[in-house]
Amino acid sequence: MPRLVMKFGGTSVANVERIKNVAQHVKREVEAGYDVAVVVSAMSGKTNELVAWCKEAALAVSGDPVYDQAEYDTVVASGEQVTSGLLALLLNKMGIPARSWQGWQIPLYGDDAHGSARITGIDGAGILKGFAERKEVAVVAGFQGVHKETGRIVTLGRGGSDTSAVAIAAGLKADRCDIYTDVDGVYTTDPRIVAKAQRLDRVSFEEMLELASAGAKVLQVRSVEVAMVHNVRTFVRSSFDDPNNPKPGTLICGEEEIVESQVVTGIAYSKDEAQITLRNVPDKPGVAAAVFAPLADANVVVDMIVQNVSPDGKTTDITFTVPSADYARAMAVLAKEKETIGYPSIEGAQDVAKISAIGVGMRSHAGVAAKAFKALADRGINIRAITTSEIKFSVLIDQAYTELAVRTLHSLYGLDAA
Ligand code: ASP
Ligand code: MG
Repeated sequence: MPRLVMKFGGTSVANVERIKNVAQHVKREVEAGYDVAVVVSAMSGKTNELVAWCKEAALAVSGDPVYDQAEYDTVVASGEQVTSGLLALLLNKMGIPARSWQGWQIPLYGDDAHGSARITGIDGAGILKGFAERKEVAVVAGFQGVHKETGRIVTLGRGGSDTSAVAIAAGLKADRCDIYTDVDGVYTTDPRIVAKAQRLDRVSFEEMLELASAGAKVLQVRSVEVAMVHNVRTFVRSSFDDPNNPKPGTLICGEEEIVESQVVTGIAYSKDEAQITLRNVPDKPGVAAAVFAPLADANVVVDMIVQNVSPDGKTTDITFTVPSADYARAMAVLAKEKETIGYPSIEGAQDVAKISAIGVGMRSHAGVAAKAFKALADRGINIRAITTSEIKFSVLIDQAYTELAVRTLHSLYGLDAA
């Protein structure tokens, strides 16, 4: 029998009525002859509520909001337990054999980085046995696994049920993985900003990885990494389509499957960035290490880095970006290192945004980014920092210009729908 993994996100399982709709989608695929594993998220808003309860509980005892991460995982994993049970219950009532599987029951193993564990292995034997002996649909609670050595429940980071789904597809050697969400595919940019954004029929793993890392929220970044490594053909499609006549959505696949490719495939943006500038840092060997090593030790991921050539050979400015969530921590680390690094002043800005253009065509075309710099300048948008890679370039700008910059680049690269 061909095998299929179907994943449904929070809005697709938001209430019993929506879960019943999911069951109709599953029924269609079972009747088409697939052995099906379904991965579900928690009902939309549920995980946020559970996270808030953990904070509330910690603060109920002391002013310190820090709490035990293993217990956090126990609490937040419960949202998926509820939806997996409800979907299996509904399927059974509809006459389709099904059972729920919690992460520890499969088992899906993770490391012990509680709150953002990485998957270390999956034993699909129980699920496969259910397929073979009872034609039983496996309804898997996404987002959660178990740490083998301690037996504790772990979760895979926010948005992690995408990664559960792709990893299970790889583990079960499924023919494909369908990720159902509230949009009907991956778009050239956020359709809420650009009405002329277009749905892509296909996008390569590498481009999707860059799009997701640059802020496109449709898939968790790790899920795309897993899909790429294991070559899992993954579709992003809508659970709001008619269950009896759904559209295929966007296929994320290897580059060799993409026949026609644009120079730029998509524009992503992120407002979750902050900029830090160290002024008049001594221009001598070892300074970059003095700045960035302590940040790395504090687990702050630095993205863009700009260092000027010093005019006098003595001092220079270093500008870089960090995730907004880590901004305060980064500033505290740098304050502690002030003497060692030897900078007289520091500046920070949180009202910035990063705009990225992505496309495998950039490998073979010159001047792609240069065109953008001109177009942004023509609109009076100042560029604070630039980074480029083989298939992406990003610019850091004032956050107030985010929408204008996204629209400008979207039409510049011919992505607007006719
Ligand atoms: N329920 C989890 C979250 O909200 C996991 C997921 O939905 O993918 O982050
Ligand atoms: Mg999600």
